[in-house]
Amino acid sequence: MKEILVPALYVMSGVCAYTALHHGLAVLRRRVNRIHLLFALMSLLTAALIMARAGAYGAHTVSELVAMRRWEIVFLCFFVPAFLWFVADYTGIRPRKLLFGLSGFWALLFAVNLALPSGVQIADSSSMAYFDLPWGERVADLRVIQRTVWHNLAWLGIVISLSYSLYACYLQYRRGQQRRARVMAWALSAFAVLSLLNVAINLKLVEFVHTSDFGFLALIVVMDMEMMLESRDQKRRLRAVLDHLPVAICLKDLKGHFQLINRKFESAFRTREGAIAGKKVFDLFPREQAAIIDANERHALDTRQDVESEEVLDCGGEARTFQSIKFPLLREDGSAYAVSSVYIDITESRQKDEALNRFRRQVWHADRVASTGAITSSLAHELCQPLAAMLSNAQAGLRFLAQDKVDLDEMREILQDIVRDDKRAGAVINGLRAMLQQQETPYADIDLGQCINEVIMLLHSEFVRTGVVVEHLLEANLAIRANKTQIQQVALNLMINALEAMAEQVPDQRMLRVTAARVDGKALVSIRDSGIGIAEDMLDRVFDGFYTTKPQGLGVGLEVCRSIMESHGGGIWAEANPDRGATFHFVLPLEDKTGT
Ligand code: ADP
Repeated sequence: MKEILVPALYVMSGVCAYTALHHGLAVLRRRVNRIHLLFALMSLLTAALIMARAGAYGAHTVSELVAMRRWEIVFLCFFVPAFLWFVADYTGIRPRKLLFGLSGFWALLFAVNLALPSGVQIADSSSMAYFDLPWGERVADLRVIQRTVWHNLAWLGIVISLSYSLYACYLQYRRGQQRRARVMAWALSAFAVLSLLNVAINLKLVEFVHTSDFGFLALIVVMDMEMMLESRDQKRRLRAVLDHLPVAICLKDLKGHFQLINRKFESAFRTREGAIAGKKVFDLFPREQAAIIDANERHALDTRQDVESEEVLDCGGEARTFQSIKFPLLREDGSAYAVSSVYIDITESRQKDEALNRFRRQVWHADRVASTGAITSSLAHELCQPLAAMLSNAQAGLRFLAQDKVDLDEMREILQDIVRDDKRAGAVINGLRAMLQQQETPYADIDLGQCINEVIMLLHSEFVRTGVVVEHLLEANLAIRANKTQIQQVALNLMINALEAMAEQVPDQRMLRVTAARVDGKALVSIRDSGIGIAEDMLDRVFDGFYTTKPQGLGVGLEVCRSIMESHGGGIWAEANPDRGATFHFVLPLEDKTGT
């Protein structure tokens, strides 16, 4: 049984080289990952160090021995700093001064090792001896040659480095990362025990070959296994979390091939991870839906930003609505390597919103019908007036026609009066229809000023009855694309609110000012009253559902107004007037943007 130690060292070196390769490739694949980079470096240096040790054992001349032992120190001088920074990253304990100090010390030792004639391990290089191992192998005796003081300092450096590492483990343990700390402490202990044994062997207290190589190997193998297990456990944990999330998640590569989907994705879109891997979104959804998803993902990748959208997707024949967030996965250098999508099924909540909105509208409608009842007498008067005027004008016209000579100018005037009164009655009826209509009218191009005017006309006699002085300034040609009924409902609600707010006011102080104008390329309608007003901190709250200060109030009017405005791409807000009363403004996009 000969030649065991040296071949064994070669094998050990090979194991370390393999570990270095394995972690080095991981670094390359993830581009940058410092802890793996440091570990790859440590493994590579250990492989080299053990090779140098094997070379020293097999040395035949003193100069060969000196060269090999010098190489050992060269590798050690790089190994220890790499190890220290690895421990710092692994434990998260980074005493910078100590780390830099120790790294400096090893740099100094490196220089000394090169400067000394036989390196730091050998003081007297005049002769060499051999050592017979129990199994008959004869190797160079590494113990007999006197060591320099630097060699002892190197040992001191190792002791300090080990002490820091063990202390870092202890702190990591205290911080709650027990498992990581325990494994590292085991690896360090093995290394420390084998190094101590090495010292005892050097001092000839124990008869054996050097054992520190085994310490290095133990450190590398244990930490390598731990890092592998950790990354496997982490993957498993992440997978379990992903699979238990109530949202569908998928991950795709840059070419759009599925890489990973979670369980919710499988059940929502009736697919399986095995069946979809490597396929594209076009293989899963109908073309139009897939095109939207694809475009959103491309946008996320191009802009490196999250893209949020609402998508209606096919789920085994049923169309469901999803809130989706697409985001790119970025490397540390900012380049994207994948894109992920998260889908939250909002079908039910959309349906609930829809039902709630419908309910609110019905309630509001009932309320409006009630207010129509309250102003019916004024309305009757409002309609009677133009009708009576039209009748008397028509009778006058007939009388004129009965005369021999018809005065055409007078006739024209009479007919113009009839047209005017007819329009007025028509506006009242239109307004009334808007107020009572529950069915939605389609979007159309409308003149906002005229639309608001119809509402003012509708309430005209109510203003007269309550003694409200109305001032209106409605700009012509404010063309908007809107649902006329809804816009009139908003104006009506605001004016009725204004009337109610002014009810407590002394009659000669009831003022309503309605304006419609083009402002910043949009149509702005303002309804200003001189009523009780709204406290500053309530200006937003009045739009909340069921907020009311009226004994008979429902508190849904302003909320519905806001939802109507939002569905038209506009907005509504309230302001407290500096003197008295409140002003409600609503703004709508203009059809014709050229006037901006
Ligand atoms: P309701 O009229 O049924 O109370 P609204 O949603 O239309 O419901 O109004 C909510 C609340 O906002 C009112 O109760 C009132 O307190 C306040 N409010 C609305 N308009 C005015 C206004 N012009 N002046 C003062 N307060 C107002």
